[in-house]
Amino acid sequence: MDQIISNWQTLIDALEKEFPAVSFDLWVRPLKPLLFKNGNITIEAPNAAAKTFIIKNYLNVFDNTLKEVFGDEYQSFKLLDTEEAIDFKNNIKEDSNETLKHLVNLEPIKEQSEFNKKYTFDGFVVGNCNQFVYAASRAVAENPGTKFNPLFIYGGVGLGKTHLLHAIGNEIEKNNPNKIVCYVTCEKFTNDYIESLRTNQINKFRNKYRNVDILLIDDIQFLVKKLSTQEEFFHTFNDLYQYNKQIVLTSDRNPKELTELEDRLKSRFQSGLIQDLQSPDYETRLAILEKKVEIEQYKVNHDALVLIAERVDTNIRELEGILQKVCFHSTLMSKTEADVLDVMDSLNEKIETDKSALTLDKICEIVADYYNISLDNLKSKKRSKEFVEPRQMAIYLICEFLPDVPLASIGMFFNGRDHTTIIHSRDKVEQNIKAYTKIKNQFNDLKTIIYRL
Ligand code: ADP
Ligand code: MG
Repeated sequence: MDQIISNWQTLIDALEKEFPAVSFDLWVRPLKPLLFKNGNITIEAPNAAAKTFIIKNYLNVFDNTLKEVFGDEYQSFKLLDTEEAIDFKNNIKEDSNETLKHLVNLEPIKEQSEFNKKYTFDGFVVGNCNQFVYAASRAVAENPGTKFNPLFIYGGVGLGKTHLLHAIGNEIEKNNPNKIVCYVTCEKFTNDYIESLRTNQINKFRNKYRNVDILLIDDIQFLVKKLSTQEEFFHTFNDLYQYNKQIVLTSDRNPKELTELEDRLKSRFQSGLIQDLQSPDYETRLAILEKKVEIEQYKVNHDALVLIAERVDTNIRELEGILQKVCFHSTLMSKTEADVLDVMDSLNEKIETDKSALTLDKICEIVADYYNISLDNLKSKKRSKEFVEPRQMAIYLICEFLPDVPLASIGMFFNGRDHTTIIHSRDKVEQNIKAYTKIKNQFNDLKTIIYRL
């Protein structure tokens, strides 16, 4: 038996040389040996399509390779699809113990999943912006090819289209390992098609895409202007659709807006369910951040997450990017967890762009308000401590946030002070921040207020 097991691996290796890579991964790698008896080898195909594919296209190659690997011992092979294999195994069990010994109990040969394991339904946060798309995707994953076919998902960049396609793939693979699920970007589909034309292997291209049970095709907007790929895709679509195979498409826009795409394709896309993904609202953004922290086991405090959720409202990819940056920043600073300051520093570049709202007046207003003194007193020449400290802090913040303002102008602004006084105030606060926690906290509070403007 050991001999057969090692021969099996040799067989798979040998077949790898005979099959195009994609067909090999799809059809041959998942094959499992069931029985080797009297020179006859019984093999389980992952599904009926694999069996048909091999029998139809590679019968001789398959046979020859078996002969080579198993030598004179080998006589013939029998390929079973999953259902046939179940019957076969049941019958064998009823058969004599002697036969049973020959059953090959191999570890399943590791199939390489093409799905990103991180992109699951569990990892997808549902909010108002995506609840319908989520529900439709789940329904499709649970009962492919029945209800919503095709499912067309559209939405802006970074809103979760690719995540959902992978989640559908992962879910089907988990519950229905015998289904052939193919995820492909429209770009890859196009390249595969061109390559097949170039190498005169259009049949193989068609075998690959037309034998799947579920086709998940990402960023279909790339089909625009590619006329012959559109034609090929149209036939792929029809072929699959006719056999009730599930198709899920994503795009950055509504099918109606895919101008320069053939009408017949557009009408196919519109014949199923169309759902759009919206930008997430604040609550969903916060929930997504919390989810990512849980998954990645980031160390971040809650205030920091709140600030990110408040500030980054474009898309989820950016939200994730900032979260990563914040955590990296905090690690660099050797902190135990990332806090609001890491967020503020990480967001710095973004703040820069809308700094126009920030003026000397604005900073002074914030500072006066914070220390509960009047703006006049803040700018005055009064020397009492209750005004000096806030005044120096205002000067320090101005130097930090408005580095382009000349020191002399700042001096003028504070009732005609000399620029050396400004330098002195700035340096004084810098030392105090290092020396006194109280001052440091005041500075952080003010910085937070300014960042949140
Ligand atoms: P798209 O394909 O629409 O450009 P992606 O699917 O690549 O966007 O999503 C970008 C990132 O945002 C991915 O890392 C994905 O996991 C994450 N993401 C998107 N939507 C959600 C969501 N609802 N919950 C959790 N993460 C999400
Ligand atoms: Mg995408």
